[in-house]
Amino acid sequence: MTVIGTPLTPHATRVLLLGSGELGKEVAIELMRLGVEVIAADRYPGAPAMHVAHDFRVLDMLDAAALREVIAEVRPHLIVPEIEALATEVLLEVEAAGQATVTPTARATRLTMDREGIRRLAAEDLGLPTSPYLFVDSREGLEQAVAHLGTPCVVKPVMSSSGKGQSVVRDPADAAAAWEYAAAGARAAGGRLIVEAFVDFDYEITQLTVRHAGGTTFLAPVGHTQEDGDYRESWQPHPMSDAALARAREVAGAVTDALGGYGVFGVELFVRGDEVLFNEVSPRPHDTGLVTLASQRLSEFALHARAILGIALPDEVEAAPAASCAVLAEGSGVPVIAGVDAALAVPESDVRLFGKPRVEGRRRIAATVARGANVDQARERARAAAAALDVTLS
Ligand code: AMP
Repeated sequence: MTVIGTPLTPHATRVLLLGSGELGKEVAIELMRLGVEVIAADRYPGAPAMHVAHDFRVLDMLDAAALREVIAEVRPHLIVPEIEALATEVLLEVEAAGQATVTPTARATRLTMDREGIRRLAAEDLGLPTSPYLFVDSREGLEQAVAHLGTPCVVKPVMSSSGKGQSVVRDPADAAAAWEYAAAGARAAGGRLIVEAFVDFDYEITQLTVRHAGGTTFLAPVGHTQEDGDYRESWQPHPMSDAALARAREVAGAVTDALGGYGVFGVELFVRGDEVLFNEVSPRPHDTGLVTLASQRLSEFALHARAILGIALPDEVEAAPAASCAVLAEGSGVPVIAGVDAALAVPESDVRLFGKPRVEGRRRIAATVARGANVDQARERARAAAAALDVTLS
């Protein structure tokens, strides 16, 4: 039985959100709707989820002592990681001591903290198909790995996301440049990289998978396009052969069962014919899953909130044809967005303006979503709504 108290009283059901980006903001809103008290944490003030939470904390979440202190002070019932870069050893401690439930599990946050833990689990422990890969720690190691795997190959810092530091090496002579680029984009020091053979896939999908008190629910496949390793557009449902869909669910089921716990997982897969390769997994809602804000009655964020609260979900979740489009800003300053009226005038469209306080470089600051009679029409609408938004940085 799920019991929820009243926020801001001694009977509150408290959630500490570790990471307060746009995905965390949607999770916070869904938790608030269910009467949960939400404390949003991030490394900077004014992060999106802080705008909608009861309270917030600003700390370096890779700093074990700082994280331990905030957990002791907030006394959350649930800790909900929204990013990978956390002092996950603290989450293991807290879970082992029974101080709080870490969603989906502390081990899952540990294993997915960098690309190495999850790749070794999937490929070496579970025997799931992936691209051939090697881990390297030096420029020479990278050159050897490129020679061994052949070109083209993809170089990624083990600790990075949104394509930061990621590049494709098309010629062995480009390895040195890839090393420099990766060093600049890595999230934490160390310099360790994964080098992967380039997969010439037909398409890639995110198999959103929800583990909950009633079992596992697979959402309709989300197709997406990526540029510079970062999502630009996604749509749902992506057409797949029965065999490829069954295999995608098998792979997603295997990796999410191994990670355990309750919540949404975004399992990224490459599909070539009926063959499905595992790429990576987020043990939380996925950016490409923003499309579910339009396609499903309960978005991935609503499903995540319910699952982590121990609520059983249906075996099937219907998805109407829908699409999402990321809106990026580039430069330096505070985003000001014109044309919101024009974007919302696109039929069946909606927008999410994240409220990020500042842009330095390139940053996703909003997304549009739209439904359509089919995925093509939904994509056109989401794109049209995004094109109507005129972002300036002041
Ligand atoms: P990731 O950060 O691993 O999700 O990579 C971001 C995107 O880069 C993926 O969604 C793919 O579009 C592309 N990508 C990553 N790894 C490979 C690979 N081994 N072969 C081809 N494309 C890749």
